[in-house]
Amino acid sequence: MKYEIKITKTTCPKERPQDESKLGFGRVFTDHMFIMDYSDEQGWYNGRIVPFGPLEIHPASTVLHYGAEIFEGMKAYRGATGEICMFRPMENIKRLNNSAERLCLPQLDEEGCLDILKTLVELEKDWVPRADGTSLYLRPYMFGNDPHLGVHAVHRATFVVICSPVGAYYAEGINPVKIAIESQDVRAVRGGTGYTKCGGNYAASLRAGERAEKNGYTQVLWLDGVERKYIEEVGSMNVMFKVNGKIITPALTGSVLPGITRKSCIELLKEWGYEVEERLFSVDELFEAAENGTLEEAWGTGTAAVVSPIGHLFYNGKEYTVSNNKIGALTQKLYDNLTAIQWGKAEDKHSWLVKVCNG
Ligand SMILES: *Cc1c(COP(=O)(O)O)cnc(C)c1O
Repeated sequence: MKYEIKITKTTCPKERPQDESKLGFGRVFTDHMFIMDYSDEQGWYNGRIVPFGPLEIHPASTVLHYGAEIFEGMKAYRGATGEICMFRPMENIKRLNNSAERLCLPQLDEEGCLDILKTLVELEKDWVPRADGTSLYLRPYMFGNDPHLGVHAVHRATFVVICSPVGAYYAEGINPVKIAIESQDVRAVRGGTGYTKCGGNYAASLRAGERAEKNGYTQVLWLDGVERKYIEEVGSMNVMFKVNGKIITPALTGSVLPGITRKSCIELLKEWGYEVEERLFSVDELFEAAENGTLEEAWGTGTAAVVSPIGHLFYNGKEYTVSNNKIGALTQKLYDNLTAIQWGKAEDKHSWLVKVCNG
């Protein structure tokens, strides 16, 4: 093992949720968490699994003042054969390191990080829920933790992993969501931090999210920060459109989060013979397609929501309905195929699953 993982088990395990159909997202946490410290002098040290509980933090800590924080979101699944597996975890670990590089946070050894995740999930394996569509969501995160107020790259950091048994991300489940296209606020600009999962990106997006919610929309669809014209992504999902038989998804220009679900969907779509265009896609082009009837389906992709159909799009006072506000055939096929692989119900031809332990 690259990193030390000292385990202190809880003496008072929590009661696990009785009704797994009501888990929701990120409200229940398991019995343990992982913590590891970093300093320039010592590198990563004192890796430990401890009972889940509050963190003690210096009031001058970098993260509290300058927002030096990055995170990941991934899931462990209880498969049909009883094994507990993670889905493409190395992709999350690499992305965490990319985010760390952008925010001047320290790098993690990739294999060492995988060992940490596996050790924690194995310890918490009874918390991996059994009901259909449920999983154990893992939230690894890292923050700058220097105990003084100067603005500079961090010399101390903390890496934490917490776990939460989850059900559907949206109350709508696999039913279509209503999305409002945001014309005022922007989420990210090229050269900024849009391609990272850093806390600040989400803080900056809350206002538009609140506004959309007040008007009855589930999430915001962001436009590019410069021309306010090209479609980027939804709050926690990448987006794809089926237009005239072809799939169009915004290119990864630096301000869009490179989603692992996005990447997996593109691979599946290409295998199924679809032409997938990763390019700039303007909101005008989208609504032209909506108006002339060539916009066939729209959906979002992300670990939390998997594949989520978009039923309504709102922009500048106008609302457009997509595929009669029903889940489209291709959206359904993607959802079915991806979830079948994740829950071990279909052959894992791409070797996307990494086994953690027997269930
Ligand atoms: C996490 C996230 C996604 C989806 O990425 P996955 O790797 O598929 O989970 C998309 N957009 C944003 C802004 C995200 O935070």
